[in-house]
Amino acid sequence: MKVNLCPNCNSDDYVKSGVVNDRQRYKCKRCNYYFTVNKLGKKIDDYYVNKALQLYLEGLTYREIERILGISHVSVMNWVKKYNIKRPYNSKYHPTYKILNALELSKFFSTPRNLSGAGVVVTELGDKFMLIKWERFRD
Ligand SMILES: [Zn+2]
Repeated sequence: MKVNLCPNCNSDDYVKSGVVNDRQRYKCKRCNYYFTVNKLGKKIDDYYVNKALQLYLEGLTYREIERILGISHVSVMNWVKKYNIKRPYNSKYHPTYKILNALELSKFFSTPRNLSGAGVVVTELGDKFMLIKWERFRD
């Protein structure tokens, strides 16, 4: 998931297309609309640093974090190094995860079989939620 969406069609399928007045310009690949966004402020940066490190600790790979947050895996690796984050899990451990909106999330929790024998953690992710699930006693 990317931080911004095309203001014309809400797609996140866009590419960088130069810098205008110190602002990054993007071109939407779905509707060809050009738009600019302000450079990310410190607050948003911190938010995504925290999210990235959280996902790292949950056992996701750098590439997965890049795909989910739209943050370069190189940045994530640098933060892991900078904050000296160490994963306590062995390398075989891997959780499953889903990105859901609030309605999908409430449906998920209203189905008992989704919860039996598993632990889940929910974390906010932009305008959606990420649900991370561990199933026990499984390799
Ligand atoms: Zn668009």
